[in-house]
Amino acid sequence: MLMTAEQYIESLRKLNTRVYMFGEKIENWVDHPMIRPSINCVRMTYELAQDPQYADLMTTKSNLIGKTINRFANLHQSTDDLRKKVKMQRLLGQKTASCFQRCVGMDAFNAVFSTTYEIDQKYGTNYHKNFTEYLKYIQENDLIVDGAMTDPKGDRGLAPSAQKDPDLFLRIVEKREDGIVVRGAKAHQTGSINSHEHIIMPTIAMTEADKDYAVSFACPSDADGLFMIYGRQSCDTRKMEEGADIDLGNKQFGGQEALVVFDNVFIPNDRIFLCQEYDFAGMMVERFAGYHRQSYGGCKVGVGDVVIGAAALAADYNGAQKASHVKDKLIEMTHLNETLYCCGIACSAEGYPTAAGNYQIDLLLANVCKQNITRFPYEIVRLAEDIAGGLMVTMPSEADFKSETVVGRDGETIGDFCNKFFAAAPTCTTEERMRVLRFLENICLGASAVGYRTESMHGAGSPQAQRIMIARQGNINAKKELAKAIAGIK
Ligand code: SF4
Ligand code: FE
Repeated sequence: MLMTAEQYIESLRKLNTRVYMFGEKIENWVDHPMIRPSINCVRMTYELAQDPQYADLMTTKSNLIGKTINRFANLHQSTDDLRKKVKMQRLLGQKTASCFQRCVGMDAFNAVFSTTYEIDQKYGTNYHKNFTEYLKYIQENDLIVDGAMTDPKGDRGLAPSAQKDPDLFLRIVEKREDGIVVRGAKAHQTGSINSHEHIIMPTIAMTEADKDYAVSFACPSDADGLFMIYGRQSCDTRKMEEGADIDLGNKQFGGQEALVVFDNVFIPNDRIFLCQEYDFAGMMVERFAGYHRQSYGGCKVGVGDVVIGAAALAADYNGAQKASHVKDKLIEMTHLNETLYCCGIACSAEGYPTAAGNYQIDLLLANVCKQNITRFPYEIVRLAEDIAGGLMVTMPSEADFKSETVVGRDGETIGDFCNKFFAAAPTCTTEERMRVLRFLENICLGASAVGYRTESMHGAGSPQAQRIMIARQGNINAKKELAKAIAGIK
């Protein structure tokens, strides 16, 4: 059953998720002004699924339960599904200008589904059935699942088992008849508070010494012993200001990251998908990361569309829209953004079925996609800032623009002066100009940088992680043979 947007919000209220922020427990986190915009983003994944004009992108028929499900809960059945996934993400980026968070779960479903199949084949375990039954439950109830991979990692030079503090990678601390007890944390987890459930995966390939760290499982967000500490964002407390509106830039939507702590959490046997089979940790990581690097070829492109639109509006409002360098900068931004989209579509079109039957993206192309994402949004933002002008970061507050405090010799208010001196082209009001500049500020370096600029660098793995995969998949030796054959080298 597809949930409506309102049902989703109400479903969050029923959870006993433990959330901490600024050193305190947040009781009503659903309506908290700093958290709510990120919930609105996830809400949009439900809202658009109810809209007939987006039915083909937002929904599909489940191969497991035979019913219409949200595409975010789908196991990709073809390259067409993989392409539609990217298109859906671009659409959501356009509608929210932010990170809508639901992709991590979708990418985890597809990685865990195929990996558990291969683990069972080698070890005769029951993980694939565990996972398939779990996913049916998720699909039937249209739930949000946070896909959690990144451990805090401690000393980057040491393996999980060699860390001074053994909790710096999430691990199994006890094996029982009926399940396992896990301890540790997952850092900067997208959408974790807004999710009903969590799927945990290991963060790196592992050796036998690390086998207690090779663990994958699912648990509800309000599992006993689990809690979350909310991540700070630049300018986040602007959301706490009374009547906050224009200064927020993006009032409605935002991203969300948190530290998710597992303080001895019990996981029953039927929710375990990997338990000490360390030789499969790498496969799960590689597949999840590959899918998520494909994802960025959709979501960041959609947000890029909005950034380009905002830059073009800023040019109009400044009266600079006819300048040839401005037109050229908008062309350059479009070129960069569509190049990213090409990568997302290409790695999807070159997808192939896994042994379990769902479709996998082309890993090399997905890693190239994300590598480009670590660069092009920075250039897009640079050009947007160039077009917008310095006022984007020097403008007085909304309160000044609206102030009725008399300060002028002829009885003019602070607001009168702000509106007089920040007026530009006659095609817009000063407020409209303010709004678009504040929006660009928000996305380039404010709270939404977590969903666009800096997330483009580190989300789905930092640049070096893609370079390792590109090195592995690039097949330099075959290229040497090509050169030898033509150059006449035996
Ligand atoms: Fe989805 Fe993009 Fe956010 Fe990842 S960064 S969860 S792909 S919107
Ligand atoms: Fe991300």
